Amino acid sequence: MPGTAKKQKFLDSLADENGVAIVVVASDSHEVSVSNNNSMCRNLYSSAEFAPSCAQFCGKAFERAVEAGKMIEYECYAGLTCKAVPVTDRGTQFVAIVGRTFLKAENYRKATEKAVSGEWSRFRPSEFFENILMTGSKASLEKACAGLKKFTNRKPDINLKKEARELKPALQPESPVAQSDPVVQPNPEEITRLIDRFKSESEKPIPQPPAGLIEPAAAQDVREHRSLIGSLMKLDYKDACVSILNYLSKRYALETLVWLERRSDRLDGLFALGRLSDKTIRIGIAADNERLLEAAKRELPYELYERSESGTGGKTRTLNLFPVIVGSEILGAIGVEAELENTDQKRDISRLAQTVASQLEILRLRDEVSQRDWLSQAVKRFNESLKKIDADDFWLHITQISAELLGAERASILIQSEKSNSLHAKAAIGSRINLLAEDSVGSRVAQIVLNGGTPVVVSDIGNVALESAPLEWSYKTKSFISYPILIGERKIGVLNFTDRAGGDAFNERDLELLQAIAPQIAVAIDRTTLKDKAGEYEQLSVTDPLTGLLNRRYIEERLGEEILRSARHHFPMSLMMLDVDNFKSYNDSFGHPAGDAALEIVADVLKGTLRGDDVAARYGGEEFAILLPQTSCEEAAPIAERIRQRIERTQFPKRRVTVSIGIAEFSSRIESPKDLISAADVALYEAKNHGRNNVRIFNSSDNSLNDNIH
Ligand code: GH3
Ligand code: MG
Ligand code: MG
Repeated sequence: MPGTAKKQKFLDSLADENGVAIVVVASDSHEVSVSNNNSMCRNLYSSAEFAPSCAQFCGKAFERAVEAGKMIEYECYAGLTCKAVPVTDRGTQFVAIVGRTFLKAENYRKATEKAVSGEWSRFRPSEFFENILMTGSKASLEKACAGLKKFTNRKPDINLKKEARELKPALQPESPVAQSDPVVQPNPEEITRLIDRFKSESEKPIPQPPAGLIEPAAAQDVREHRSLIGSLMKLDYKDACVSILNYLSKRYALETLVWLERRSDRLDGLFALGRLSDKTIRIGIAADNERLLEAAKRELPYELYERSESGTGGKTRTLNLFPVIVGSEILGAIGVEAELENTDQKRDISRLAQTVASQLEILRLRDEVSQRDWLSQAVKRFNESLKKIDADDFWLHITQISAELLGAERASILIQSEKSNSLHAKAAIGSRINLLAEDSVGSRVAQIVLNGGTPVVVSDIGNVALESAPLEWSYKTKSFISYPILIGERKIGVLNFTDRAGGDAFNERDLELLQAIAPQIAVAIDRTTLKDKAGEYEQLSVTDPLTGLLNRRYIEERLGEEILRSARHHFPMSLMMLDVDNFKSYNDSFGHPAGDAALEIVADVLKGTLRGDDVAARYGGEEFAILLPQTSCEEAAPIAERIRQRIERTQFPKRRVTVSIGIAEFSSRIESPKDLISAADVALYEAKNHGRNNVRIFNSSDNSLNDNIH
């Protein structure tokens, strides 16, 4: 920093040791040194959308701290606590922003919610959550600020007022690193700080170090405890839980431990050691909720007793539940099956459960966010494959690519025949019997699924009231998914998947994936079956005969579905309305057939420019609607611009053709298909008013939608 690598190293270790960020800014708010920055700040500050909000806080830190002439404290819009400390170095004024850390559990929960499903959900989770800072109390913040004393040089700063001087360094000459405390011998203060560092709420009393840990003889335990706490954020959620159980097992010689995760009013076993490792564990906690909270408050386990099986001397087992709590919410529990007699031990485990709670919650949320990321990537991949399918092997290919996506070794696709009202297999992979030769298949499960219109995921067929498959089908696993394919009310068919590679059961995650790709599958199937029927059901068609694009009826229906999906998964979604400019005169000059030919060319440009997930439809006449799932209007704008340019540059047979495009994004204010279409229309109207051949985004603050709906 300003100056030497040595100082930079000193600031880095001061930041690391205290679990805070230290960012030194110069008078123009320019960052001259950054240590252990919060990854959230990094992401927010470098985005065009959020940088102005950062500018209101850290951007003003220099000015405000220097003006005050002393350290100031603020909580920024992202809920992070910062202290801004005026410091001088070789006569130059700087301000060190110390903290950028969550002090309140409530703030970080709000922030992670925003990152999971709110306005920050556009950031890549791996980057956004890479280094989240949380500090249980102000102690470490203050310690880091005090540590800055070693940073500046000896000369008193005449610009600063008295208070600032008090903060200022009791100056040490140039060798700050050598003077920072070596972290070899653990001391009680250090341990308390470590334990405290991740405690979820500042108002909770600072926990004492686990009994027995503070004697020098227990240095090994201290190291292990510290290394456990320090390593958690580097793991994924489940591995972190596993590592906590392993630590407890070793530290207290416990054999049977289970990590339980909260699912509505139950605790479900996520991972277990010892006797419970191959058991399914489910504990209803609705009635015990308060008692679990109470137990945690008293730093004791909540004890569950197993009823003796035979009554004839069968030993009763005890499961001690140590709840993992953030705020007043039970996230899960550590279960220890043992007779715990030592009160200190109970208290230590209870404290550990509470100490790690907020870290684990971040890890869990991180998992959730990357799951969402994974989903949108998977859907993109699927749509790309779908585009490449050719008509010849359509059924087989669609079955194959969906099976691959789900990791199923066996899959089939059954289509409802309108004549016999039964299902027929169109393709099957991995099947040992010839499904295609069967007259009617899927009567056991698939037909029920299709009639009900809701999918079924079964982890073990033995557990559900459905008749099992005939023996000769000889499935390898007992888990399957049966998924109905529908377009609006129309029942098209069913996709079945079983025999998951690796033998794992299908789960909700797979279902979510199918939900995301089902509309595309439905359209592809619908088109193929319609082609097969050679126009018999033309009026039911979803395809526009002139351009081969989808038609208005379809896009309106699909829009409704996509809106629900966006609302549920908090995905952005945009709609474009595109209208050919001065098309009446094109028709008038060159005739209707020439006009039709031009419309076909426009449609071809659309098909060639859009991405796999986008859905283009002929909305009517010379107007086209394009739905862009998982796309914000900022992302849609360059796509629209590309379309506009390509059409402008395309050689049309008669004369140059241009289009105007309006874009609107689904939001809490524009949430019905009708509103979204109207908003895109308003933007299109503006594009026309701006001289045509341009792109406009609907801006809800400039336009009241209701005024513009006719
Ligand atoms: P603007 O730039 O304002 O959109 O002007 P415009 O002339 O395109 O708009 P207007 O709505 O007045 O005219 C649309 C014309 O599009 C009317 C009709 O001649 C033509 N049109 C609509 N549907 C078809 C079609 O299916 N085939 C052909 N050839 N022309 C069509
Ligand atoms: Mg027009
Ligand atoms: Mg028009």
